Amino acid sequence: SQIKQVEFVKSSSKPRDCPKDDRPEFAIVGRSNVGKSSLINALVRKKEFALTSKKPGKTQLINHFLINKSWYLVDLPGYGFAVASEAARTDWTSFTKGYFLNRETLVAVLLLVDASIPPQKIDLDCANWLGRNNIPMTFVFTKCDKMKASKGKRPDENIRAFQELLRKYYKEPPPWIMTSSMTGLGRDELLLHMSQLRYH
Ligand code: GDP
Repeated sequence: SQIKQVEFVKSSSKPRDCPKDDRPEFAIVGRSNVGKSSLINALVRKKEFALTSKKPGKTQLINHFLINKSWYLVDLPGYGFAVASEAARTDWTSFTKGYFLNRETLVAVLLLVDASIPPQKIDLDCANWLGRNNIPMTFVFTKCDKMKASKGKRPDENIRAFQELLRKYYKEPPPWIMTSSMTGLGRDELLLHMSQLRYH
C-alpha cells in the first residue's frame, strides 16, 4: 500500500477538464487550514508537493496526482475560509458538486477534519451533503498530535464530540482515521485503508 512513485498530472479549473477517468481515485477535501497540504506532502513524502492555492479569491483548482502509475490522489480546493462570503461558499459547492456527482472512478472522499478544535458546522454540512448524495467518505482527523489548547479539549474529545453529532445522521458512521502530519501518525493506516477500498 506504500507510495513508491508520484507524478503531478495536471491542475484543472473545471471538472470537465480533469484527466480521463480511467483509474480509481480518492479526493481530499477539508476546511481551509485543516492541514490538507501537510497531509498530502506527508503521504507522498515530499515537501511542498501539494499545490492548492490557499488564499480566498484565487482560482480554484482540481489537482490530480498519479500514484504508482495506477491510481489518482486528487487535491480539491479547501472550503470555509474564515472570511468567506455566502457567495464564495456557494461557489465552492457548485464547483465541486460537478466533480463529485460525475466522477465515475471516485472511490471515496477523504474528508479532513481538524481534531484540535471542536466540531465545526461547515464540516458536518459537507459530510451530510456527501452522505445525502451517496458519495462514500472516510473521515481523516488531522493534527491529532496537538496538545489541548488552554481552554480547549483534547483531540480525542473533539473527535468523540464530532462522532456524536454524526450519529444523528448515520446509522453506521463512515470509517475514520486519526492522523498527524507532524508525527506521521495514521499515515500507514490511511494508505492501507485506501488500498483496501481500491481492491474492494
Ligand atoms: P491547508 O490549508 O489545509 O492546506 O493546511 P496546511 O497544510 O497549510 O496547514 C495549516 C496549518 O496547520 C499550518 O500552520 C500547519 O503547520 C499546521 N498543521 C498541519 N498539519 C498539522 C499536524 O498534523 N499537526 C500540527 N500540530 N499542525 C499541523
